[in-house]
Amino acid sequence: MPALQFLGAAQTVTGSRFFLQINGRRLLIDCGLFQGGRKLKERNWHPFPVPPDSLDAVILTHAHIDHSGYLPRLIKEGFRGPIYCTPATADLLSLMLPDSGHLQEEDAAFANRKKYSRHDPALPLYTEAEAREVLKYLQAVSYHRVHELSAGLSFEYLYAGHILGSAMIRLSYTRNGARTVLFFTGDLGRYDQPIIKDPQTISAAHYLVMESTYGNRIHQKIDILGYLQDLINQTVESSGSLIIPAFAVGRSQRAIYLVRELEKAGRIPVLPVFLDSPMAVNAVSIYCSHLEEHDFEMEQLMSEACPLVAGTVRLVRSADQSKALNQFEDPCIIISASGNLGGGRILHHLKNRLGDHRNTVLFVGYQPEGSLGRLILEGKKEVKIHGVRVSVRARIAHLDALSAHADSEELLQWVSHLKEPPSHIFLVHGEPAAQEALKGSLEKVIPSRIEIPQYLEEFEFQ
Ligand SMILES: [Zn+2]
Repeated sequence: MPALQFLGAAQTVTGSRFFLQINGRRLLIDCGLFQGGRKLKERNWHPFPVPPDSLDAVILTHAHIDHSGYLPRLIKEGFRGPIYCTPATADLLSLMLPDSGHLQEEDAAFANRKKYSRHDPALPLYTEAEAREVLKYLQAVSYHRVHELSAGLSFEYLYAGHILGSAMIRLSYTRNGARTVLFFTGDLGRYDQPIIKDPQTISAAHYLVMESTYGNRIHQKIDILGYLQDLINQTVESSGSLIIPAFAVGRSQRAIYLVRELEKAGRIPVLPVFLDSPMAVNAVSIYCSHLEEHDFEMEQLMSEACPLVAGTVRLVRSADQSKALNQFEDPCIIISASGNLGGGRILHHLKNRLGDHRNTVLFVGYQPEGSLGRLILEGKKEVKIHGVRVSVRARIAHLDALSAHADSEELLQWVSHLKEPPSHIFLVHGEPAAQEALKGSLEKVIPSRIEIPQYLEEFEFQ
C-alpha cells in the first residue's frame, strides 16, 4: 500500500519533511531543519527516522531552511540520490545552505567558549563545507514540466507565490490501473503581492497536504504603500532614518521594491537605501535573474533595469562598509538582517540608532516570545545588545501585512477552487491552535476528512 509518514512540521511550523512509499519507490518531500525551542532542535540530532541511504530522491518545495536545512545531514548520513527543486531554489540554496553550515559552526564554537553544551566538545550539526556538498545533488526541474520518477510515478511543480522559486508539488501515480494525485502546497503565499506570481490553484486532488501557519489569523488589511509613505515622510521630517530588520531572502527584496515604488510615484523624497546583508545582496541578483517567476508589473519594470538594484539602492557587501554607515547622518533607509534580531549586522545598526528619537524602526516579520525584537515591540525602554545597555527612544512600528504566508481567509480561498474535494486533507506546518481553527473552518466548506497528523504518524492510501 502507498504510505505517507510525517517526519516533521506536524503540529509545529518547522522541520518540514514527509516520507512517501509509492510503487516501490521511497521519496522525501522537503528536508527541513527543526528550529525554535531546545526540545524541537534536539530532533535535528536524532537518527533520521528512515535510513537516508534507503531513499531514492528528495523533492523540495522551496529554499527556506525549515524546508531544506537538514539536507547536508542527510547526505552526511548516506543519502546519494537526486534532490529535485526549481531553478531559482537551486540558486538560493547555493547561498542559504553554506550560510546555514557557517551558522552551525559558529553556534558550536560559541557553545564551546561558554561551555553550555551538554556535549564536550560541542559539534556543528554540519559544516559549511558539508553544506556545499549538497549542491552537487541538486537537479533543477522547471515549473509545469511533468518529471517522471519511474513508470507510472511523476511530479510537477506549480507556483506557490511564497518566495522566489517556491513551488507546490503535484505527485501522481498509477496503481492497479487507477491514477491517484497527491498534492503538497508547501508554504502557500498570498495573492497580489509584489514581485512574484500569485499562487496557482488546482481543481482536484485525491489527497492534499496543506500548510496551516496562519490558520487562525487574518493579516492586517491596510494600504501598505500608504502606511510606508507616512512612516518614511514623518521620519524624514524629523531628520531621522528608517531601519528595517528583514530576513535576507524574500522580505528584504519586497521592502526595497515598495520603497522604490513610492520613490517613483514621488510620494517620498529620494533617499539613499542601503541593503546591508551579504546574503540579501546576493539574493537580489538571483531575484533579478529569474524572469520566469516575476509577475506582470515586475516584468515591465525589468524591461528597463532590475528595480531591486536601480536608482538609489546601495548594496553593502563588506563589514567595513556596514560599520561606516554608523557615521552616515543624513536621512536614509537601512534594510538589514536578521529579521528576528537573532544576529547579523542589524544589531550594530540598532545599537547605534535605537537611542535617537528621530529614527524609526519598522518590524516586518514575526518576533518570537522573549526575543529582543519582541521586547522592543512590547515597549521596553532599555534593551541589551551585545552585552551593552541601549535605551529605546526611536519610534517603533510594526507591519505584518508583508507576510509571505496566506492567512486563514486566503487558505480557504485557495481550497474553494477544488471542484472535486480530496478524500483527506492533512494539515501541517502550523501550531495546534491554528490547525484546530483551520480544521473547523474547512469542515464547514468541504466534505473531506481533515487530519492533523502527529510527529511520525503514518497513513496508508489506496
Ligand atoms: Zn517558507
